[in-house]
Amino acid sequence: MPRENLNPFVIAQTYFEQAAERLGLDDGMRAILSTPKRILTVSIPVKMDDGTYKVFIGHRVAHNMSRGPAKGGIRFHPDVSLDEVKALASWMTWKCACLGLPFGGGKGGVEVDPHQLSLNERERLTRRYTSEILPFIGPDQDIPAPDVYTDPQIMAWIMDTYSMTRGTTSLGVVTGKPLALGGSKGRDKATARGVQFVLREACKGLKVSIKGASVAIQGYGNAGSHLATLLHAEGARIVAVSDSKGGVHAPKGLDPAKLQALKADGESLKTFPAGKPITNKQLLELPVDILVPAALENQITSDNAARIRAKIVAEAANGPTTPLADDILFKRGRTVIPDILANAGGVTVSYFEWVQDFSSFFWDEDEVDKRLEVYMRRAYAAVAETAKKYKCSLRGGAYVLAVDRVAEATRVRGIFP
Ligand code: NAD
Repeated sequence: MPRENLNPFVIAQTYFEQAAERLGLDDGMRAILSTPKRILTVSIPVKMDDGTYKVFIGHRVAHNMSRGPAKGGIRFHPDVSLDEVKALASWMTWKCACLGLPFGGGKGGVEVDPHQLSLNERERLTRRYTSEILPFIGPDQDIPAPDVYTDPQIMAWIMDTYSMTRGTTSLGVVTGKPLALGGSKGRDKATARGVQFVLREACKGLKVSIKGASVAIQGYGNAGSHLATLLHAEGARIVAVSDSKGGVHAPKGLDPAKLQALKADGESLKTFPAGKPITNKQLLELPVDILVPAALENQITSDNAARIRAKIVAEAANGPTTPLADDILFKRGRTVIPDILANAGGVTVSYFEWVQDFSSFFWDEDEVDKRLEVYMRRAYAAVAETAKKYKCSLRGGAYVLAVDRVAEATRVRGIFP
C-alpha cells in the first residue's frame, strides 16, 4: 500500500470532500468552503533573558466566518506548521457548525517549544505575537483560546495586550481566561466534560457501561487529565495514560489524583511506580473498552488501525485518526466519536464565556455543565441521525451536518459584492 499522506490540511480536505460528495455540493461551493478566508504568517522577535534575540514564526488562520466570528485556539509547539494551523482552523469551522454555535473557525500557532523559555520570555513572545495578529482578532472578528501548551495565563496576556492597544477592557477577545479576568467557571474541564457526555451517549447504544469500563488515554494535559479524573469518578478503570515522554500501564487501574501529583512535581507519567512503562504506540493498541487520543494528530493511521482493539475511540485530540485508518476502523465495527463532535465541549464553554463576558453576568459551574450537556447530547443525536440517514460513520454524519450548515449560511448570505 502506498504511504498515507499525513499532511493535516490534506487530511482535513479529504474529510471535507467526503461530506461535499454526500451532499452533492457544486464545485464553486466546494472551493468557497474548503479555502481558508484569511492566512497570516508573522515573525516574532523576542529579547531573551540573556540579552540575545530570537525570531519565532507564528500563524493565525481564519478558515470561515460565514456563521459568525472565527473561533479557535492558539498552539505553542515546535511542530506547528502553516498546514497544521489551516487544518485545525477548518476543523473549528466544522466543529462550531456541528454544535450549532454562532462561530466560524480559526486557529493560531507559534513554532516554538515553550518549555525551553522562561516565564518572562513566554510573556514577551505572547505579547509580540498578539501585537502582530492584533488587526485581525477581536470579540466580533476572531477569538483565540488555549490549545496545546497554552493556558489561561497566556490568554490573560493576550487580553491585556489587545486591551492596552485598543484603549478598552476587552474581555471577549479571548476565551479560556482566568476566572479573575472574565473566564468561565467550568472552562478548564469543559473539553473533558464534553467527551464524557458524548461517551455516555455512545455507550448507551453499545451495551458498554462507563462504570467498570477500561479506558486508555494518550496525552495527559488539559483534555486528557481532566477526562481521567471525570471517568474515574464515574467508576471507569483508567488502565493506561501517557504524555510526550511515554506512559504507564496498570490493568487494575490508576488513580488520577496520584498521577496529577506526579505531573505537578514535573515528572513524566512513565515513572509512575504503580504500573509498568508503556510507549505511546503500545497504549493505542491495548484491549480496552474506550480509547481516548488526547494529544496530537495522526496517531491512528493505516499502519496501526487494524490493531486498535478498543470498542470506542473518543477523539479528544484534533485530527488523531487519518482517513484510511478511519475507514479501517469503520469496517471493523469500531465506534469512533469524531473530534469535531467529541472535543467540542471546549469551544462550547468558550462560547458560554464569550456570552457571559458580553452580558457581564456570570453563571455558576452547575449551570455551565448543565447547558454543556444539552449542547453535547443534542449534537450527538443529530450526528447519529445524520450518520444513519447517510449510512456512514459518526464522522461522516458530523461532517455532513456541519458542512451543510455552513453551506446554507453561505447561500443565504450570498457572495459579496
Ligand atoms: P495540553 O498542552 O494541555 O496537553 C498536551 C498533552 O499531550 C501533554 O500531556 C503532552 O505531554 C502530551 N503530548 C504532547 N506530545 C505528545 C506525543 N507526541 N505523544 C503523546 N502525548 C503527547 O493540550 P490540550 O489542551 O490537552 O490538547 C490536547 C489535544 O486536545 C489537542 O489535539 C488539542 O487540539 C485538543 N483540544 C483541546 C481543547 C482544549 O480546550 N484545551 C479543546 C479541543 C481540543
